Amino acid sequence: MDRAMASRRILSLFNTLTRRVEPVHPLEQGVIRIYNCGPTVYNFAHIGNLRTFLFQDLLRRTFEASGYDVKFCMNITDVEDKIIRDSQAGLPADASNAERLVAMKALTDRYTAYFLEDLARIGIQPATYMPRATDYIGGMIAMVEQLIAKGHAYAREGSVYYRIGSLPHYGDLAHLDREGMQVGVSVDVDEYEKDSAQDFVLWKAAKPGEPYWESPWGPGRPGWHIECSVMGIDVLGERMDIHTGGVDLIFPHHTNEIAQSEGCLGHTWVNHWCHGEFLMVEGQKMSKSLGNFFTLRDLIDKGIDPLSFRYAIQSNHYRKVLNFSFDGLKAADASLARIRAFRRRMTGTGEVAGRGDWKEAVDPMARLQMARERFWEAMADDLNTPEALASLFTLVTDLNAQDDRVALTVEERQAVSAFLDETNAIFGGWAAEEETLPAEIEALLAQRQEARATKQWAESDRLRDVLKSLGFLVEDRKDGTMSARRA
Ligand SMILES: [Zn+2]
Repeated sequence: MDRAMASRRILSLFNTLTRRVEPVHPLEQGVIRIYNCGPTVYNFAHIGNLRTFLFQDLLRRTFEASGYDVKFCMNITDVEDKIIRDSQAGLPADASNAERLVAMKALTDRYTAYFLEDLARIGIQPATYMPRATDYIGGMIAMVEQLIAKGHAYAREGSVYYRIGSLPHYGDLAHLDREGMQVGVSVDVDEYEKDSAQDFVLWKAAKPGEPYWESPWGPGRPGWHIECSVMGIDVLGERMDIHTGGVDLIFPHHTNEIAQSEGCLGHTWVNHWCHGEFLMVEGQKMSKSLGNFFTLRDLIDKGIDPLSFRYAIQSNHYRKVLNFSFDGLKAADASLARIRAFRRRMTGTGEVAGRGDWKEAVDPMARLQMARERFWEAMADDLNTPEALASLFTLVTDLNAQDDRVALTVEERQAVSAFLDETNAIFGGWAAEEETLPAEIEALLAQRQEARATKQWAESDRLRDVLKSLGFLVEDRKDGTMSARRA
């Protein structure tokens, strides 16, 4: 605790609400509350979605590495129009509501599991809280009732709408032109364009064939926007430090979340709104028709290391449109290999390197200090990852050259390794050697260990060759265990 207090940094982030980079002063000392709009679970996440989740993970890890206790909430949207469309398609017309709800849950459970698998593969840490919308239906009905009572909403034909004209600052986040708003006109869909800002739906009357919950306005279901307001307030409280999402959520989703939450609470709900930019693929918008639409599974099928994907995303600034390319992935792979090789070198004893006669020797500790300062200066300035990583690579270049000529001491190596741990805690690409082995390599090692335990020497040799063909050298230890390292 004392150490964390001493090292706690102030981080600055771009705030979409004010359009400025501003320091984050937490509501509660040492604690950061972050709400992240999570996935709508009716399909696999595509790499554009994953970019947003990687940005959120970067944000969270940077606060944690800066000494904060991060309360990180990511919701699961498990009731929504597209989920209903896909989950009800195979049901008979006379299916009961209970059957319809079960079918919806089966679909969302399946895709939630896939989603969590994908996050684990790219090193995204599990959220502190992961509320599911369908567990909060009662709270959503209660919030809609409050909004009606406060004059912000009205019921019509079994649905309830938010009256956008009732909130003076409606649309500030998206810089909406209030003159152009269609006050009094209502919209039933959750997603629409900025120039058609209208009274949006809070509660949707059920149509025949749709699953529903009972409500004071008849059978229906919540709109998408109300879900996040209710879960955010329930889990994190009436105020939070940061709310995130992709830039496509600024309008209408986050705009409407503010209207609902602040209409209900009567005060500012979120201090900092942070949005991650889009991802393009090879210079084009990703779309199924262009054949450039990828999920993480597609990349893995192409032999791509999920951590290289993570690095390719995070080495670009989160507020710049990212042009994803397979060349970019190769470059990410090479960058990671370079840091990992440096890490291995720093783990060694240094006995073989260095002749001790190099005139341009530098003070490794001074270089390390400089790199560390530059790294944190960049990260604290709106998560400037390109600058932060540049400082790390300067260190790698300098100390590799130094170690070629004058070997670093054990203490210097340990200090450098500690910095590599510190940076890996954020970027998650250069953990201590054994932890970075891909799952398939771990599985082959386990098979080989089993083969040796049962004295199947030919099989053991075969597996060693398989590992070698995949680029890993096996090292047998005296106690019968083994490890592998990249050749
Ligand atoms: Zn949301």
